[in-house]
Amino acid sequence: PKQPLSGLLEQSAREYPNHTAVSFMGKTLSYKKVLEEAYRFANGLQALGIKKGDRVGIMLPNCPQNIIAYYGALFTGAVVVQFNPLYMEREIHHQVTDSGIRILVCLDLVYPKVANASEGTSLETIIVTSIKDYLPFPKNLLYPIKVKKEGLFVAVPYSDKVLSFKRLLSSSPTTPVSTEINPQEDLALLQYTGGTTGLSKGVMLTHENLIANTCQAKHWMYKCKPGEESVLCVLPFFHVYGMTVGMNLAVMTASKMILLPRFQPGDVLATIQKEKPTLFPGAPTMYIALLNHPDLEKYDLSSIKACISGSAPLPLEVQERFEAITGGKLVEGYGLTEASPVTHANPIWGHRINGSIGLPWPDTIAKVVDPATLEEVEPGKAGELIVKGPQIMKGYWNRPEETAETLKDGWLFTGDIATMDEKGYFYIVDRKKHMIIAGGFNIYPREVEEVLFEHPAMLEAAVIGVPDPYRGETVKAFIVLKEGQTVTEAELDKFCRERLAAYKVPRLYEFRKELPKTMVGKVLKRALQEEEANRMP
Ligand code: ATP
Repeated sequence: PKQPLSGLLEQSAREYPNHTAVSFMGKTLSYKKVLEEAYRFANGLQALGIKKGDRVGIMLPNCPQNIIAYYGALFTGAVVVQFNPLYMEREIHHQVTDSGIRILVCLDLVYPKVANASEGTSLETIIVTSIKDYLPFPKNLLYPIKVKKEGLFVAVPYSDKVLSFKRLLSSSPTTPVSTEINPQEDLALLQYTGGTTGLSKGVMLTHENLIANTCQAKHWMYKCKPGEESVLCVLPFFHVYGMTVGMNLAVMTASKMILLPRFQPGDVLATIQKEKPTLFPGAPTMYIALLNHPDLEKYDLSSIKACISGSAPLPLEVQERFEAITGGKLVEGYGLTEASPVTHANPIWGHRINGSIGLPWPDTIAKVVDPATLEEVEPGKAGELIVKGPQIMKGYWNRPEETAETLKDGWLFTGDIATMDEKGYFYIVDRKKHMIIAGGFNIYPREVEEVLFEHPAMLEAAVIGVPDPYRGETVKAFIVLKEGQTVTEAELDKFCRERLAAYKVPRLYEFRKELPKTMVGKVLKRALQEEEANRMP
């Protein structure tokens, strides 16, 4: 691509000015309107001194302001840094200092923690917005945004350091803003990794990386027509998966974005029936929660044509039931933040294989190598998955050592153990970092988890390695049982011993009510590991 990422919005607004771009809690905005608002925001940022290369933070759920601030910042040549709105002060502080953002847009609700976390950092200006800013009922422009402080609601203390989003927009013109961008070199995004395995790192994604992955997604959905689709955007935009396959794909294809700020199964079902989205990118935990909703049968979900599920394995039963209920296609894909994020998926309208992450996307090369020799292994043998393509990051922000370990000769070392079959379909075995070495044997937690899942009482299971004086590490399973079920450790032990080699059988069990998870529903194994470490004498 020759154009910057923000060109996607300009193009759709030019070709489909009056098409609905956003539908949010009963309010709609056209492509023309979103572009005007983004230009206003860009002008506002420039007036605040933002120049090309400066970092601008966005800490919002899915709402119109997120799209406006994202594209607005890109028009100025700034680099967007997305923050999870649920982050606590420690996490906000880490990301603000690591990225060096100068401006952050956030909701009134989180303003107090942002203000505390950013004291003494590079953050100069906080722009505060309310979820109500784009709702249909008229509001006085100058109404005070309120925040809770020591149990009482007080107005946000506006100053030259704390601004109102709405006022910034209303006082800025809609004149187009553009900056000279070199799409291959210039960063559009510093995207922090989920932090499932360690400290969250800033992934440098260029304009080209993000446009390429959006184009690849468009090709994968080749039966979808520009200007005619609508995307259910419930995957958060602050995660790169929801950003690319939700927001950017919709903007590239002038589709309607149906925004939901939170995943609540009942709301999602009602929204599908009312708004009739054709595309619904999601994560397995979302589809599972919808299928388990008691009123599922009451809703008409037949508008859905295609869904790509990513971020974790998609169980066959979930795929089959969801397809039967919607009449659309649900396929599994794979990706990681470092690849903008998607590298593989099963064909939506072609041959797909359950348990496989599918084929590499157009323009993407993938192979499985022996981590020691870096030689490609034979089909069926496990090794590290490495990928090359236009969506692969430039590197980690200010971390040359980690970059050199992860990017070699243009190949991204994914840190995932995979196999490829004779037909070229790929399968994820587990993450390299999750591998347990017990008494010299390699154990992949996912294999043990899959056995535990076969037990009828099992709701969730997560397996990690914990330090052991004799075996180096030993296998520990965290178990969440279905409601009303009881199982003893001895019963689980017998169940596993009948299905797994003795060295893989968990030696320790812990029963829990729930497991710590990331925003896209992945079990946070790092948190479980930290708990274990804290328990060590
Ligand atoms: P961090 O990299 O900081 O530990 P994270 O794992 O949450 O955090 P992401 O980039 O969001 O970071 O997730 C990418 C990882 O998700 C992949 O490396 C892979 O392990 C896992 N993953 C993605 N899709 C699938 C899938 N279909 N099946 C199995 N695992 C998947």
